[in-house]
Amino acid sequence: MTTSANDSRTIIPITVARGDGIGPEIMDATLRILDAAGAPLRYDVIEVGEQVYLQGHTSGIAPSAWDTIRRNKVLLKAPITTPQGGGYKSLNVTIRKSLNLFANVRPSKSYSPFIASSHPGINLVIIRENEEDLYAGIEHQQTDEVTQVLKLITRPGSERIIRYAFEYARAYGRRTVTCMTKDNIMKLTDGLFHRVFDEVAAEYPDIHSEHQIIDIGAARLAAMPEQFDVIVTLNLYGDILSDIASQVAGSVGLAGSANIGGEVAMFEAVHGSAPDIAGKDVANPSGILLAATQLLVHVGQAAVAETIKNAWLTTIEDGIHTNDIFREGLSAQRVGTAGFTDAVIERLGQQPRQLTPVHYQPGGIRVAVAERPRRHKQLVGVDAFLDWAEPGRDPDVLGARVSGALPDGWQLLMITNRGIKVFPDGMPETFCADHWRCRIVPADDRTITTADVLEVLHALDGTGLDLIKTEHLFTFDGEPGYSLGQGQ
Ligand code: NAD
Repeated sequence: MTTSANDSRTIIPITVARGDGIGPEIMDATLRILDAAGAPLRYDVIEVGEQVYLQGHTSGIAPSAWDTIRRNKVLLKAPITTPQGGGYKSLNVTIRKSLNLFANVRPSKSYSPFIASSHPGINLVIIRENEEDLYAGIEHQQTDEVTQVLKLITRPGSERIIRYAFEYARAYGRRTVTCMTKDNIMKLTDGLFHRVFDEVAAEYPDIHSEHQIIDIGAARLAAMPEQFDVIVTLNLYGDILSDIASQVAGSVGLAGSANIGGEVAMFEAVHGSAPDIAGKDVANPSGILLAATQLLVHVGQAAVAETIKNAWLTTIEDGIHTNDIFREGLSAQRVGTAGFTDAVIERLGQQPRQLTPVHYQPGGIRVAVAERPRRHKQLVGVDAFLDWAEPGRDPDVLGARVSGALPDGWQLLMITNRGIKVFPDGMPETFCADHWRCRIVPADDRTITTADVLEVLHALDGTGLDLIKTEHLFTFDGEPGYSLGQGQ
């Protein structure tokens, strides 16, 4: 993928959306600071949000704006107001899905003792895979009792997000990348993510890497968030973890977030358009400003990002606070949006004294996923799923029926119900739904084809069994590409 210029003086065009509510105020404040810091950027402004929705564009963005976003490849977006009522689609989801933004990057940090926090040591970043996993939305009702969702994890998708996490760690001077999965249970899908993590980690000996099972990892994140640095994880886990991290950090109003794609990247504040305080010169511009520093590192302008972030840290440390973070005893001066912006600009070039100054590596963030040789795939059997609810639901009865229906040279290896082996030699206590997986394989080690499998399925169908779905069983370079039944 991505990303462009190093710390040179080439002017980089970016797309800017000023948004709704406090959006225009905090965006203007941010652009003022970017300009004062000498960020070599040009701004192409597009309209998104409430007015565009009300003009009849149900996604909140006009068709012409897409061309600007595509051309510039980098979007700095202020929060928008989604109008009340049905029929309006989330602009964020539309942008994320349409532009293939595969990584959601959300830092969580405490600025204690200058801003009150229950976890003063928290300083972590969650890098969440944004496109795959259970969010593909492929769901089916398969029997009267059973629904399913497909969890899709790809090798290139995993490699891309994991490489991004390590490149991010390097660019931002971070030391540890923690991968979180549930591969003790999902050995193929989460197992693939973990395996790719180990492979990629070996290419980054300068960064410490570790893996944690998601359940204990999430518990540690809630109780001891200061132990984490960069976390990379799958879509669903990342969705949950980033909310846990925001909650424990207690600084949602200060957080920026990035959505990174193969071509395009979008940077924004985590908070919304705050219509209750719009136009009053009280909004804190920090969320969108810190998102803009992420943008600068992304486009190879790490030095400017560093200057701005250190000036911002110094402002916070000097107790110059907007209303949302102002605390008697902690803060020195209550300022509005414009006053805060001026204070940051005055401090450009200064380093914080107590808070740790940031240091970003030059060069931007680049990720490339190499083509790899395809492995030898061999068909070795089929899992046939049946809808069966005869009185008693005795697995031995079903086993005898399936075995009796198979053509010569095939055998029923096992039947599972909700993944638990119930035939042969099942346990009488196991609850059985109306959804049965029958693993059928050749009785000898001959080579089989799809035509052979179709013959087996035809035979099952011919006996009146209700065949609802099949999965071919493959080996890849001799390694089984399927899980065993529990108890098999
Ligand atoms: P919100 O984040 O806008 O506001 C929640 C509270 O935090 C309010 O009291 C607000 O005044 C305060 N607040 C938020 N940002 C602040 C800032 N920068 N400085 C000082 N105080 C700040 O959340 P909400 O009220 O639930 O949503 C308002 C609108 O924003 C809704 O239309 C929602 O759909 C939209 N929204 C947009 C985005 C986005 O565009 N990325 C994200 C979340 C919500």
